[in-house]
Amino acid sequence: METRIVKGEEGLQEAASLIKSGELVVFPTETVYGLGANAFDENAVKKIFIAKGRPQDNPLIVHISSLEEVSRLAKDIPDLFYTLANKFMPGPITIVLNKSENVPDIVTAGGKTVGIRMPSNPIANKLIAMSCPIAAPSANKSKHISPTKAEHVYDDLKGEVPLILDGGECEYGIESTVLDLTTDAPTVLRPGAVTIEMLQEVIGDVYVNNKVIKIAKSPGMKYTHYAPKCSCVVAISPESARKCYEEKEKEGFNPVLVYRDIYRDIIHPSEFNFISLGITIEQYEHNIYAALREAEEKYDFIIVENLKEEGLGASVMNRVNKASSNNKV
Ligand code: AMP
Ligand code: MG
Repeated sequence: METRIVKGEEGLQEAASLIKSGELVVFPTETVYGLGANAFDENAVKKIFIAKGRPQDNPLIVHISSLEEVSRLAKDIPDLFYTLANKFMPGPITIVLNKSENVPDIVTAGGKTVGIRMPSNPIANKLIAMSCPIAAPSANKSKHISPTKAEHVYDDLKGEVPLILDGGECEYGIESTVLDLTTDAPTVLRPGAVTIEMLQEVIGDVYVNNKVIKIAKSPGMKYTHYAPKCSCVVAISPESARKCYEEKEKEGFNPVLVYRDIYRDIIHPSEFNFISLGITIEQYEHNIYAALREAEEKYDFIIVENLKEEGLGASVMNRVNKASSNNKV
């Protein structure tokens, strides 16, 4: 199959037709690129799992363009959902609700709950409004780093999808916050740009579950995600980063530092390989996946900056710790 990349606005009509006829389309969102299919079409959704090589017990998120669509997808919707939706939707949050019978089991990996998200990206929003609710995971090969540019998607999925809508770089750069409202207390299953602190301000106590859970309540959480193709470690200090770099070089590796610019002068003798994550934590979030993809292409040992695990730093490090399999130096 030929895979075409078309500028978002120009490709919208064609993309909506493809979705409606049961085909896959890659579309930009404010978090990462999504690999979408009509959420009500079981056969179309099956193609997502095949294209990605995704295990069938890992659920997808259903993307909507208006809150009116929620009652078709979910049942027993608590008031808290609408309180949160008012505050954070459209935006980088997925809320898990009890699924309605309209949603095919394949979307939820056989589970009784469905993750619902309303993207703020205008291309995503228009595509959904022009077609239907769209089930999608990130548009990368299973277990690889999520794509934040159309070229990342092309590298992973060329030949597997007919159309990639190019919307430029994703605004946030890491996947959505996933909040489960189907248990006794609201529980964060995956931190993201909507931070724990932001949620607490609106709803008070929030439970956090960063750990891999053994009983498959959320099958998605069993899998390691976001892994680069070569070794990757987090350096807890600039000194340990420099030491690790020098050691790896002696061992014959071609290492690279993936850091924000403020550390350039501290650990960056001019001959060190360096990929910049920008200046602020928001820029770190925006740039990290593209930096990891660039690093795995050009080098063979990645040393990444550590962030304090609070606020957005906690969400970003959730991904970086997975990318590094929790290896710290
Ligand atoms: P991706 O954004 O590619 O990681 O795919 C969607 C992710 O959303 C899954 O891996 C899960 O972590 C999460 N998710 C989707 N649906 C549910 C659900 N019903 N319950 C819990 N988590 C979900
Ligand atoms: Mg993913």
